[in-house]
Amino acid sequence: MSYEVFARKYRPQTFDDLVGQAHVSRTLKNAVAQNRLAHAYLFVGPRGVGKTSTARILAKSLNCVKGPTVTPCGECDNCREIAGGNSLDVIEIDGASNNSVEDVRQLRENVRYAPAKGRYKIYLIDEVHMLSPAAFNALLKTLEEPPEHVKFIFATTEPQKVLPTILSRCQRFDLHRIAANLIAKHLQFIAEKENITLEPAAAHAIARGAEGGLRDAESMLDQLVAFCGEKISENDVLDVFGFTSEQTVVDLTGRILRRETPDAIDLLHQQSEAGKDMMRLMSDLIAYLRDLLVFKAKPDALKEDVEADVQTLLAAHAELLTTDRLLELVDQFAAAEGRMKWAPNKMLHFEVAIIKAIQSLGQATLDEVIEKLSQLRDGKSVSQKQSPSVVTGGPPASGGIEGRNFQLGFAPGDKAMMEILGTQANRKFLETLLHEITGTDWSVKLTVREELPSKQAPPSEGSRPENFKGDPLIEEAIGLFNAQIVQES
Ligand SMILES: [Zn+2]
Repeated sequence: MSYEVFARKYRPQTFDDLVGQAHVSRTLKNAVAQNRLAHAYLFVGPRGVGKTSTARILAKSLNCVKGPTVTPCGECDNCREIAGGNSLDVIEIDGASNNSVEDVRQLRENVRYAPAKGRYKIYLIDEVHMLSPAAFNALLKTLEEPPEHVKFIFATTEPQKVLPTILSRCQRFDLHRIAANLIAKHLQFIAEKENITLEPAAAHAIARGAEGGLRDAESMLDQLVAFCGEKISENDVLDVFGFTSEQTVVDLTGRILRRETPDAIDLLHQQSEAGKDMMRLMSDLIAYLRDLLVFKAKPDALKEDVEADVQTLLAAHAELLTTDRLLELVDQFAAAEGRMKWAPNKMLHFEVAIIKAIQSLGQATLDEVIEKLSQLRDGKSVSQKQSPSVVTGGPPASGGIEGRNFQLGFAPGDKAMMEILGTQANRKFLETLLHEITGTDWSVKLTVREELPSKQAPPSEGSRPENFKGDPLIEEAIGLFNAQIVQES
């Protein structure tokens, strides 16, 4: 017997064989069992998740000699011909190559004839969105009044490109990307049948690489068997496809989140020197950050997709930053990924992206500024995450917040300045500004504080930033926002 690729050899033959699409098979089984069949079905989903397989199983259910049945026998002529793709009653059309009006006109002609053997004449149009608008319109005429013996099954990866008039005449089913754990399990099932030893970590690495597509995962397994024979380890998978191990992706993320720039860059260099695919690593990094986002929103949502030890790491990393920060990081890396696609020096873009991301983690966001201001207002002590130089107690501040009063202190020598600032118009301006920043109302109070040094006095020692540094309010602000004084001229 000639060699058959796994995707064909292990193509699901019944609704129960379908991997990861229980919501679709359940509904279709019910429809067949209760004989509530639509004229047209539309299967939507990314490539390799089982659209064509589902369509063929539905066709067998309808045309099996024992049917319509939810468990087609798989042995009668009809079942066998459909499975082999050569049934006269199941006409498979590739929308990408048969998209002219002529093709659809011919289809309309043929639709009128009764099925040869089966109960129904079933038109299976793959990539239906590729049909030209004229072909769509021609098809629509048939869809409006199809003969009783005709069923249409459309499949598409891009439903937004299918005309609304077609969509409205179909029962739509959305097939999902398949969870990595389910793919890994299916690969183990194949490995067992084929007498192949597949390390669990290897199965998982393939599943991650296939990004939810079962067919891709099966093709990868084909390739690995060709390269490695009957024993496949995680390293084989990583080497053959240039993937980075999940552990490395997790490490890299940890270094970025802990703002260890040199260590993160080192790890990147190691991966590049080991010949790892930089685009792949970037997309793995983004995928992990996305997992973190999901984990923060709903910790148990990833049970199907990640292994238990990764779950633990996710929990630890999720502690390190807020959802807003995480969203920002995902945005930044996604933009970098876009730039990398066309860049000859992908590593450089990757490095810059890591450095920028770590820098942005060190900056205060507007939300944090507002939160800290309101903490000040409420008289709570301000918690510090990064900077150890917190001002606790210390010298009296020259500005502060008491209740709803925003108090600004002035040295006796600066009384003139205080009076200028104290005009009604200026106070009003300050209050509006504070309101905009914090969202609450304030009343600005200006007072003379004997203990404060005058700012009007000419700088006698050190440079200007040094003088600022001595100011308790500035010190506090520096501590609060983990800031630095920058010399301005
Ligand atoms: Zn049958």
